[in-house]
This record gives sequence, C-alpha cells and structure tokens, in this order.
Amino acid sequence: MDGLNKSMYDIGSDSAFAILARSQELQKAGNDVINLGIGQPDFPTPSNIVQAAINALKEGHHGYTSSNGILELRKAVADYYFKRNNIEINPNNILITPGGKSIIFYTLLMFGEPNSEIITPDPGFIAYKSMIDYTGAKCVSLPHRMQNDFSFDADELLSLVNERTKLIILNSPANPTGGVVTDVELQKLAEGLLRFPKVFILSDEIYSRILFDDHRHHTLLKYPEIRDRVIVLDGWSKTYSMTGWRLGFGIFPDNIFNFAEKLAINSHSCVNSAAQFAGIEALNGSQESVEQMINTFKSRRDFLVNELNKIPSIECKKPGGAFYVFPRINKNNMSSIEISKYLLEKKFIATVPGSSFGNLGEGFLRISYASNIKNLEKFILCLKEFMNE
Ligand code: PLP
Repeated sequence: MDGLNKSMYDIGSDSAFAILARSQELQKAGNDVINLGIGQPDFPTPSNIVQAAINALKEGHHGYTSSNGILELRKAVADYYFKRNNIEINPNNILITPGGKSIIFYTLLMFGEPNSEIITPDPGFIAYKSMIDYTGAKCVSLPHRMQNDFSFDADELLSLVNERTKLIILNSPANPTGGVVTDVELQKLAEGLLRFPKVFILSDEIYSRILFDDHRHHTLLKYPEIRDRVIVLDGWSKTYSMTGWRLGFGIFPDNIFNFAEKLAINSHSCVNSAAQFAGIEALNGSQESVEQMINTFKSRRDFLVNELNKIPSIECKKPGGAFYVFPRINKNNMSSIEISKYLLEKKFIATVPGSSFGNLGEGFLRISYASNIKNLEKFILCLKEFMNE
C-alpha cells in the first residue's frame, strides 16, 4: 500500500494468536478443539486479586495514574524483588506497563536501528524478532540447543558480540522450550560482558516463578558488574493468571529510565488504575494459589514428558520451567508447520510449529500444558494415532 512507512512490512506477528483464531473458528463450526497453542494459564485469577480491583473501582480509582505506575505498586514490586532475590530496587526505576510485552516494544524502539545488531534466542519468543525486524536492526540468532537443555553457551554468545551489537535479549525460563539458564553460565556472561561496556541486556524473566525440581531463578540484576545496563521484564500475566488484565513491569537502569517512561507517556499514558491495585494484592497477598498452580503444572509436565518419550520418533527434554514442552517430532520429513496444521485441521488439537520461533525450532512443536490433564491425555492419543498413520 502506498504511503505506509516501509518498516511496517517488516513487522512479524505471533502465530500463537493466528492459531487461536483458527481454533475458535473450528470450535464455532461445532468441533471440540483442544487448545495447546496459547501461552496462558488455564486458571482464573485468584479471587483476592479480583476483589482488590473491585474495591479499587468502588473507591473511585477511575482516572489516569502517573505514567510510570502508582507508587504503592512500584514499592510492592521493589519489596517483592527484595524478598525473592535479595536485591534492592529503587521504585523510581520501575515502569508499570500494560503487560510485559510493552517492555520488549519500548526496549527495541530504544536500541534497534539500521546497521545495529541485536542478539536474540533461537528458538525464542516471537515478539523479539518481529520488533527487531521492524526497527531495521539485524537479528542475530543465539542458539539454544536441545543437547544443552535449551540453554545457551556464554562463550558462544560472547563470540557473537561485535562493535555493532546494541542489545542482547535473554529469556529464562524460556518460551517456547521451558529451558532454564544456569547461574554458572550467567556469571560467565556477566564477566565476559565487561569487555563490551556499551552492550545492554534485556532479561525477560516473565516465567521467573514457574520453576520445577531444584531449578532456581537467577535474575540478571544480581551481577553488579553489569547492573547499570540490565533491563528486566517481568509481570503478573503468567504468575497470577492475569493475562487479560494487561499488567507487567520493567526495571530500567537510571541512564535510560526516562526514555522508557517517555515512550510509555506517548503510547499508553498509564496502566488501567484498578488493575494496578489488583497487582498490589497479587504481590502482597497469599501466594498459595501460585504454589498450587506450579504443582499442577509440574504433574502435567511429568505426564507429557513421560508419554511423549514413549512414542517412537519423538524426543522430549524435561523442561525446568514455564509451561511448555518442546518435543522433536520426526514424521515422514513433514515440517513443523505441516505437523501443527495437520493436528489442528484433522485432530482438532492446536499446537505451535517450532519453526515460528526461529530456524532452530524446525522439527519441534510447542505444546502448552496450560490445559487440563484430560485434554493432555487426548492429545497424546491423537499424536500416537497421527504417528501411526
Ligand atoms: N515474554 C515472554 C517470553 C512471553 O512468553 C510473553 C507472553 O507470552 C511475554 C513476554 C508477554 O507477556 P504479557 O502477556 O505480560 O505481555
């Protein structure tokens, strides 16, 4: 179309939403569709959180708030961060946003430009590459391989950094693989980055609470040598089952906070006021429902990994976090798009093809286990049928 900024043609999209739309169409046509495609917990938001939003509305919190978020919420985030990570954060470095995704958007608008390079996980969350492409920066792929439990190698990452590198994006626990990076690798990275003092890091920690077995979360802010160039993304969507509330936060270093805030002022102005009060209750109230959700996810993960590995030509690692498994599926050289499409159109099971997360995702499928065990059992039956057809 004439007149449009040419960069618009470079923005990608998120196939999980396209698959959701197709699943809804199939459902409307009378089919019983199981959606293992979308990344949102299948639990309601805990009632104490919902009540806090209702109270806020009844108390008259109907107007704009400060663009960086209400102070009580930013203080609650700082306390939460201290409790969980033993790291002090100044509430003035916290930006409350409509979901964690805005932090990706703002960060890439701040760092991406033609002739610059941004390193991003492959396979990795789709929004990173879509927005890097939009800014005109070169997207440099950081392999997260199955044999490395879908984590990265710090030496390999450092070897990709050059004078054009502006930003490195990391994500642990990871979407789409559930991979978790170790403290050892992060430490190595933090030390190595001393050689590249201009490079910033966006650490997407949105799944930081959803960890299993003996995995622990290591925020990138814990390395003092790089702290003045680490941006952390986290939020309420996954931990508190609040995807539709649109509530996230970013922690920005002093030197760039005001740029992020300006982007916020010029785009969303502020986050929905009642949602911010709900966010305070989420952090300060009982965490029992979070623990229950994690236990449920763990048993679903164990079920899936166990069953998938029993099927010939399928191999599945046991992910340390998030709520996805990422099995490698070998069926008559079919691509991951072909397999995912077949499963949706013929078996009415929505999954996301691995290739939509990057070249290294080819041959894999992302299965979200934010769905009840009956659906997961049905999925395994259908997958076995498909593999035998
Ligand atoms: N980062 C990752 C890795 C995600 O998987 C998602 C959501 O799927 C987000 C960020 C965005 O979360 P939100 O819904 O809070 O915008």
